[in-house]
Amino acid sequence: AKQRGRNHYHFYTQDINAQTYRHLMLENELSKALERDEFQLHYQPQISLATGKVEGLEALVRWEHPEKGYLSPGHFIPVAEDTGLIERLGLWVVRRACEDMKRLEAADLPVPRMAINLSPRQFRQTDLACQYAAIIKEIGIQASQIELELTESTIMQDIDKAVEIFEALHRLGFRLAVDDFGTGYSSLNQLKHFPIHTLKIDRSFVRGIPQDRDDAAIVTAIVAMAKGLGLEVVAEGVEARHQLEFLKALECESVQGYYFSRPLPYDELCEYLQDSCST
Ligand code: C2E
Ligand code: CA
Ligand code: CA
Ligand code: CA
Repeated sequence: AKQRGRNHYHFYTQDINAQTYRHLMLENELSKALERDEFQLHYQPQISLATGKVEGLEALVRWEHPEKGYLSPGHFIPVAEDTGLIERLGLWVVRRACEDMKRLEAADLPVPRMAINLSPRQFRQTDLACQYAAIIKEIGIQASQIELELTESTIMQDIDKAVEIFEALHRLGFRLAVDDFGTGYSSLNQLKHFPIHTLKIDRSFVRGIPQDRDDAAIVTAIVAMAKGLGLEVVAEGVEARHQLEFLKALECESVQGYYFSRPLPYDELCEYLQDSCST
């Protein structure tokens, strides 16, 4: 039996590929990272095209790993999601974002609305609405100042459940946005059941405008549809002037992307907001 056990073990170790190994390492380090305060939030401005003002900020989490340096959420959010750690990380994100809003207020800077991302597991977290409401209340932020972003595919995983959660959040006064819109195959008929404020056009469509005829047609249709439904629309991933011009011509409400600003650490955000009020 001992022999067999050993063979088993050999078989198993050989099977662990580099990716699994990295995943295990990350999982281990992630759970310590919260206690060691290694996460940070960067904020990317959302600009209103009508006024040129910063209307919102999207909070994007970063992990400053002691040896590996900055890690992007694309690397560790999926691991946090698998292990359930995302729920604790999510609570940290709302808290930090609200605290930074209070710091902006104390510094006499404008306090734009804050957009916060929710992954599928967070979205289904028991008492999500109550937990978030309790945190913002404690810090002194209104729910209407917070916009929760859910991807279209998260919503479409279980529509009935999603409607229920959206309604609970909506009753508490949170704003709701559909992220990566256009990638998740939802139909208008499904969308109309949701108390949504904002559609965020996925940057894969924004990339091709105006040259790519399909992308141009899709973006045009989404903006028109959003207007028809009385929703606000944010185009994400705007990197170039010609993209911006196209969106302006469509009267798209807001834009977000490197053309205006990368996601900024708090101190740089303050400078950005300072400059944007003086011009
Ligand atoms: P997302 O919600 O779609 O966020 C937009 C991503 O696009 C961000 O990547 C942002 O830095 C990037 N981006 C912004 N403008 C441009 C641009 O002009 N060009 C290009 N190429 N990219 C641009 P980031 O920060 O790496 O985040 C990746 C994803 O990780 C996010 O996608 C979101 O799904 C997730 N994420 C980030 N922070 C959180 C969080 O606090 N909680 C959860 N659950 N997910 C998060
Ligand atoms: Ca987002
Ligand atoms: Ca997005
Ligand atoms: Ca995305």
